[in-house]
Amino acid sequence: MDSCDTPACQSAREIFHELEEYYDDHNLYFRTIGSVLEAANALDVPHRLKLIISQPKNEIMFHCPVQMDDGSWQLFKGYRVQHNNVLGPYKGGIRYHPEVKLDEVKTLSLLMTMKCALARLPFGGAKGALRIDPRAVSHSELQRVTRRLTSALGSNIGPDYDIPAPDVGTNAQIMAWMADTYINFAESSKKVTARGVVTGKPLEFGGSAGREKATGQGLVYVLDELLPGMGMDISKLTCSLIGFGNVGSWTARLLQARGTKLKAVMDHTGAIFDANGIDAEKLAAHVQQSGGVANYPEAGVISNEDFYGTPVDLFIPAALEQMVNLEHAERMDCKVLVEAANAPTTPHAEHFLLEKGVAILPAILCNCGGVTVSYFEWKQNRQSETWDEELVDERLKKTMTASAKRVLAMAERLNCNMRVASYAAAIEHIDKVYKLRGVFP
Ligand code: NAD
Repeated sequence: MDSCDTPACQSAREIFHELEEYYDDHNLYFRTIGSVLEAANALDVPHRLKLIISQPKNEIMFHCPVQMDDGSWQLFKGYRVQHNNVLGPYKGGIRYHPEVKLDEVKTLSLLMTMKCALARLPFGGAKGALRIDPRAVSHSELQRVTRRLTSALGSNIGPDYDIPAPDVGTNAQIMAWMADTYINFAESSKKVTARGVVTGKPLEFGGSAGREKATGQGLVYVLDELLPGMGMDISKLTCSLIGFGNVGSWTARLLQARGTKLKAVMDHTGAIFDANGIDAEKLAAHVQQSGGVANYPEAGVISNEDFYGTPVDLFIPAALEQMVNLEHAERMDCKVLVEAANAPTTPHAEHFLLEKGVAILPAILCNCGGVTVSYFEWKQNRQSETWDEELVDERLKKTMTASAKRVLAMAERLNCNMRVASYAAAIEHIDKVYKLRGVFP
């Protein structure tokens, strides 16, 4: 199959031709907006909406000079892409990774717009990234880089304007440094609410109960809602995971508590397998200590090829983008592909798996639990409230269940796959708000 012939590709090519903009159907951003436009075409939305969502509102690029512990200087390149804010303030994570590229950040910002709209959160979409290997710098270097990045972003972020959160390579400590830096610049009358500039903060400093596990927890609630209709019982299933960081490890632990057996895991350090099941809690402790799944003493080592070929019910990518390509898909032996990571599946792999009868549960549905609890954190910060984990989980479950139902209903209405349905459910909401607000002037 040539990707140029897909409806997604044709939809994107037409719009970028009209915009007289560069277009490349091998590029992740164009692939992703192509799928979004395919969904828009399935709805009766105005053409202007397709033009608006095809490009981010703002693409900010900056360079942060930072002195390292040995006295040398390094210049770190950073991006913040603000895709759309018709529903509310821009919202999206900040990634630290040595190979980040602008198009990847643009893609992730677009997905944030879709995710917030699908979950009916009062947020738009954004994403940020810094080109750095967080594992290769010291704790104090990481703090200086983070504070410098926050000041470089300046008034481009704020609790009423654009609210970052953790993503790959960033965590609650980094969010605490970002919030502290921002608060130092805030007027005295705004210092209390200024902590809402970022979410995913530590519990002791304005964070929310349940935020750390939120993405994994939300994914499990989606499975609770969808698997029975697919004739599957969560307590009798097996799974494999790519990535054992925040999302992967929490997903594994929460699925284990439901009775699902973890058979194989792959991360940046290698792949491991145990036919009798890997204990997700013990593996999480090992990864916490050693930085990866390699050398875990209670499972065997397998090759990456064998990892993809391990027979499981649920195959769950929870690492970086596009880690399931056609070659992998041809090896895979699963019933459901559960997209915990953003944009993990290439269009060729998706086409192949759907033809084979594998169900694909799309990322904007599966992983919107993270931004949902970020919304709860932002809300608690604004109201100086502290919710307990039970309340957070109860409200998260309500949002995830409603989002899953929305996708199912749209798939039935448009007679389309779940990815197109998830984008359509998001776009329909954005369209309604644009119609109510109008497009200025
Ligand atoms: P993380 O940094 O905690 O973990 C990333 C994982 O990916 C690690 O286990 C790492 O070993 C693995 N990895 C990296 N390169 C790899 C490679 N080449 N091969 C195999 N594994 C590799 O990140 P995270 O927060 O868990 O995010 C994972 C995914 O989930 C990303 O796509 C992120 O955008 C998405 N996501 C995260 C959240 C959140 O709340 N953290 C919310 C929504 C979506």
